[in-house]
Amino acid sequence: MTVYSYSRINTYFTCPAQFQYRYILKLPSPVAEGVELFLGSRFHETMEYLYHQVPQKVPTVNELMDFFKKHWANQYQTAVEKQKQKGFDSPLRIVNESQTVEDYFQKGQLYLENYYHQYHPFDQDKTEAIEMKVVFDLDSQKQYRMQGFIDRLGRDDEGVLWIHDYKTSSRKISEEDVKSEDQLALYQIGLSQHPRYGAKEVIKHIWHFVAFEKDQVVGERNAKEIEWLKQKYISKIKAIEKAKDYPTKTSPLCGWCEFLSLCADGQASVENKKRIKEEKAAAQNPGPARKEKAPEVVSAEQTIESTPATAPTANEPALKARRRKAPFVSQDQLSLF
Ligand code: SF4
Repeated sequence: MTVYSYSRINTYFTCPAQFQYRYILKLPSPVAEGVELFLGSRFHETMEYLYHQVPQKVPTVNELMDFFKKHWANQYQTAVEKQKQKGFDSPLRIVNESQTVEDYFQKGQLYLENYYHQYHPFDQDKTEAIEMKVVFDLDSQKQYRMQGFIDRLGRDDEGVLWIHDYKTSSRKISEEDVKSEDQLALYQIGLSQHPRYGAKEVIKHIWHFVAFEKDQVVGERNAKEIEWLKQKYISKIKAIEKAKDYPTKTSPLCGWCEFLSLCADGQASVENKKRIKEEKAAAQNPGPARKEKAPEVVSAEQTIESTPATAPTANEPALKARRRKAPFVSQDQLSLF
């Protein structure tokens, strides 16, 4: 029996072709690890270190930073070695051309510093588990099983169990979106079936979108919603198990897909997106030649000589420079950006 994870199910519904490459054909990634994933892993390791230390002694912010730097350097070295062995273009894959590995390293430091000062001395709840594996059934016949990892489980003074999850992405869900974010609610099922916890626990969910100054988004699901969630995921698994073909489903995420080099549809979509973006930028920032563009209907007074040249690529270097300076993060993100 296949034990499903939230990301495995999500991959199928995001793009069946990607699901096939990753889970059916089990193809090794033809490209290096993405820098976003690398940053996320280093952040999680540092949080793990922090909350393991807290019961004995709260580390200083410098100690936390040192841990992050050391682990970043060690893992980067591993990525360099992997690059040599596998012949990747670079140790880490960066899709956003305006960013460097150093930029991501600095973001990681900033996220940590912000988190540290926001939650110090880390006594909002008492840690019960870190990187806790939960395995659970969606049905009483135990035909549909899932598993996942809780980043941190804490219990507050009122006895509420909090499922914490850290996200380093530059997208933050809104309070309204919480009801459609299922990952932590699925882990709630895991806790309710866990011998140490059980169905009587009051459980809440807390996402930390650490790229944002106000990082927390909180949610919860009642018993009825949890039952409905189980049915929803049973239906999803049934659909996956019934699938006979795995069509491509292009989206803005194609640019980040590790299998892009194998996927003609994905490549066409990325190219198309790039072209639309360039055209939009050109329309919003017309150069001097563009400003003088002749009207569509040439009046009787106008002469052929007065019609300016409108070479579409004349402003390309300036446009590229403008794109490089485009803000990476949204308004309410940390002021450094
Ligand atoms: S590149 Fe896009 S369409 Fe192709 S497999 Fe990846 S996600 Fe799917």
